[in-house]
Amino acid sequence: MQKRKCIICRKPLNDGIMINGRGICKNCEERIINSENGTDFYEYYINCIKKTIVHYMIRGVDYKCQNYPL
Ligand SMILES: [Zn+2]
Repeated sequence: MQKRKCIICRKPLNDGIMINGRGICKNCEERIINSENGTDFYEYYINCIKKTIVHYMIRGVDYKCQNYPL
């Protein structure tokens, strides 16, 4: 099984939450919860989520095409 990493701090993921198969560790989750909309960390977090989810979706499409060739 692949070791998951936190998408924000890039540390190995032992606990925390998952969004679209991407992990966020407890530390970062708490920082997000405690940070308010508009703070630097919140902005950074939103950017991380956007980037990784977009990346994930693009790769998901490629993977599907390889599995089901026309
Ligand atoms: Zn983290």
